[in-house]
Amino acid sequence: MPNPSILILPGDGIGPEVMTEVRKIIDWYGVNRGLAFDVSEDLVGGAAYDVHGTPLTDETMAKAQEADAVLLGAVGGPKYDTLDFNEKPERGLLRLRKEMDLYANLRPAQCFDALADFSSLKPEIVGGLDIMIVRELTSGVYFGEPRGVFEEGNERVGVNTQRYTESEIARVARSAFELARKRDNKLCSMEKANVMESGVLWRDVVTEVHAAEYPDVELSHMYADAGAMQLTRWPKQFDVIVTDNLFGDLLSDLAAMLTGSLGMLPSASLGAPMANGRPKALYEPVHGSAPDIAGQGKANPIACILSFAMALRYSFDAGEDADRLEAAVEKVLADGLRTADLIGEEGRAPVSTSEMGDAIIAALDASVNAAA
Ligand code: NAD
Repeated sequence: MPNPSILILPGDGIGPEVMTEVRKIIDWYGVNRGLAFDVSEDLVGGAAYDVHGTPLTDETMAKAQEADAVLLGAVGGPKYDTLDFNEKPERGLLRLRKEMDLYANLRPAQCFDALADFSSLKPEIVGGLDIMIVRELTSGVYFGEPRGVFEEGNERVGVNTQRYTESEIARVARSAFELARKRDNKLCSMEKANVMESGVLWRDVVTEVHAAEYPDVELSHMYADAGAMQLTRWPKQFDVIVTDNLFGDLLSDLAAMLTGSLGMLPSASLGAPMANGRPKALYEPVHGSAPDIAGQGKANPIACILSFAMALRYSFDAGEDADRLEAAVEKVLADGLRTADLIGEEGRAPVSTSEMGDAIIAALDASVNAAA
């Protein structure tokens, strides 16, 4: 069996800086845990535009389609703001998501105890929080036709269409049920079935998939507006949430911010299983290229490192190794290490990007030594 393959696309700004730390961790797993990967690296975003005049070449796209997992840093920067729409760095990322047909976007909201004071909510509400939002990513109101601004009588009318097919709902529901089975076996589906027909269909299809394929998972339904309230009132009541593209956009940002800094937030976007059974997969931090701090060694690499932990769990069936990496991150935070973005009023001295990466490696080493 060949080693599983990872395509790394560091991108722009702080992307290459945080990805350097991820590469150290990938190497650590090869040496210490027998998890050898075939790693290749390529250009995306502004970095690809500078060399090839396009934010993603066809060759890189083909490599991404073949890879067992793609890890992306971030794209964009002020240098590219004046480019044509189709040449902008973000188009490279959108092309990857579209052509790989990544329909399930996984956004964990996890609050490490050591950072509970950093949330805008009370520490007892967010401390130890660990929920997962699954957002449908390739359909719904952002894509439905008709769309546009039209003349109607003597005024203009703006139109977008919320449209979901049964199969689009069923496949993202299956992704969410599968995830729930790997976690606390609880799924809450959110829509607006009280006022939207697409919400009625959503609820029906999720219920049918549940009855036919996942009766062991505890399923509940909630209107998305009530869900937003519950997420801020008592987020720990949830395990996995599945919702459509629009509500997922809002709810995942809301849930993510319960946990503090952008520098801490990983994500995964998954598509249909490939011939080897692994899903098409793109892992990336939620943050952008942070041009304001790029090149200064200030970036927090944890969002990107936790994205690799998601790859271990969801692409490489290495859940225990993902737990090990998350525990190492938790350890360094508990020990008081902070990059500049995680320092509030207390005024402690920040560590650099590479110091944070090295500390996480040291915590991984300690976890192996403790087990020996
Ligand atoms: P951003 O996420 O890059 O930065 C927002 C703020 O958070 C900045 O102050 C930044 O310094 C800070 N920040 C972000 N990540 C951090 C980290 N890992 N460590 C420490 N601080 C961090 O968002 P923005 O400033 O709105 O956008 C900058 C560029 O990134 C733009 O070109 C935008 O289009 C692009 N962008 C790309 C993605 C992506 O690649 N997925 C996502 C969002 C924005």
